[in-house]
Amino acid sequence: MTKQTKYIFVVGGVISGVGKGITTSSIGLILQNRGLTVTAIKIDPYINVDAGTMNPTEHGEVFVLTDGDETDQDMGNYERFLELNLTKVNYMTTGRVYQSVINKERNLEYKGKCVQVVPDIPLEVIKRIKEASINAKADVVVIEIGGTVGEYENILFLEAARMMKIENPEDVFFVMVSYLPTPSKIGEMKTKPTQHAVRALNASGIQPDVLLARGETSLDSKRREKLSIFCNMPASRVFSAPDVDSIYDIPLNFEKEKLSDKLCELMDVVCQKPDTTSWDKWKNFADQAHNGKDTLKIAMIGKYFETGDFMLSDSYLSVIEAIKYSCYAQNKKPIFSWLNSVDYEKSPLKLEELKAYDGIVLPGGFGARGVEGNLKVVKFARENKIPYFGLCYGMQMMVIEYARNVLGLKDANTREVNPDSKNMVIDIMESQKDNLKNNLYGGSMRLGAYKAVLSDGTIANESYGKNEISERHRHRYEVNPSFIAELEKAGLVFSGRSPDGNLMEIAELPKSGHPFFLGTQFHPEFLARPLDPHPLFSAFIKACASGDKK
Ligand code: GLN
Repeated sequence: MTKQTKYIFVVGGVISGVGKGITTSSIGLILQNRGLTVTAIKIDPYINVDAGTMNPTEHGEVFVLTDGDETDQDMGNYERFLELNLTKVNYMTTGRVYQSVINKERNLEYKGKCVQVVPDIPLEVIKRIKEASINAKADVVVIEIGGTVGEYENILFLEAARMMKIENPEDVFFVMVSYLPTPSKIGEMKTKPTQHAVRALNASGIQPDVLLARGETSLDSKRREKLSIFCNMPASRVFSAPDVDSIYDIPLNFEKEKLSDKLCELMDVVCQKPDTTSWDKWKNFADQAHNGKDTLKIAMIGKYFETGDFMLSDSYLSVIEAIKYSCYAQNKKPIFSWLNSVDYEKSPLKLEELKAYDGIVLPGGFGARGVEGNLKVVKFARENKIPYFGLCYGMQMMVIEYARNVLGLKDANTREVNPDSKNMVIDIMESQKDNLKNNLYGGSMRLGAYKAVLSDGTIANESYGKNEISERHRHRYEVNPSFIAELEKAGLVFSGRSPDGNLMEIAELPKSGHPFFLGTQFHPEFLARPLDPHPLFSAFIKACASGDKK
């Protein structure tokens, strides 16, 4: 019997930020736990070909895949919940879809036919969904359609889903995640906006199979009945999805309501009983979010502070999650403080406040703003032996600080900030020069997974427990090879290098002189998984917990 792949589309009703990404990840997880092979796709309605050209304050973190695709932060949630490594076939935007349709038209692939918005755009969307499904040999593909039902932007994606349903009525399903507000003056949960949202979806020719009712509280039976009647579905298909403190409780809550049973029944797939061993592992992990005994104060140095629609923490989402996983595994609870790098430029006294933290993280970044503040923080962390973890720009800052204050190269800098510096310790990569000259910014950095070789007897090597690693990158600049010997002579250790020895991938100070002063040119946060914390984050957290500052 040939296996029929099932497709579950996840759409959002009433408000944006209703939790479609975590719902998609959680549905994937509960189905994986029933023995099904799952993959996930994110559809973003915007015109940008990828998320790489957007400021984090516009759209949150840019999540980089193994193959270098610069995607939406939800892709990170899918990878983390589902322990998958996804690729560019799992991600599409309006811009990407139109770009390939137009390229095909230019190549005469439509053989003289008039190329139309409908059906040619939805057909391209369907083609991509099927490609991802075949790639993953999936039993179930969960597809998140970005945006909110009723808006203009995602209409062509809903059209694609509708067309798929016509072609394969038995294999295509819709889960609607919708919001039920509880206005404070009324004091009860209201179903009407969701009723309207379902009607808006009906107007696109789609009827949801399952409704997930998001709200401050659980759904009661009266409202479940109302939703059942007015949204045209049995009450058994209406599920309650109340607010939670930790996103990792959501799959557990879904299973308390037996959502995977309902989905398996609807899809008519043969699935196994829930795998209790792996479920218990997830439960233990999720419990740690509530139980972690000792708290660790982690200073996050950043600059993407103008929040707009997006939460500040969204700009550094994977870093925060990576820290949590390593903390939970060590029975600790992180308390994050958001410190603006620019503040340290003017006020040296502020630096003293950093002594109150167990560790400092300087995540990735771009451009000159905040750099002088960053350098002051790095110097303070080095001299006061506060555990410091630099990610990408955070490693470049370490090298600049070391060159300035230990080697005495006062104007040491990165070409990104000061192209006139005499001591360009961080310089543009050879392969990047033409990109910048020709204004080729989109998708043109050093992106995706690259191997690195680790030196014996270093923190890096000890943490990973192996000599060769592969990590994901996103940068244009690198440590300038002409300064390496001098920096090493002064005590900075380049403990990770590209296999050809040319690119410096990890810098650190020996443990004898500092409990943890380490930076990576790559982004280790993209590989941290809830049940498999990242070794470097774990080593950093261990150093933070040891409190051994002097
Ligand atoms: N701006 C730096 C570079 O392009 C670092 C990038 C980053 O932190 N992701 O090399």
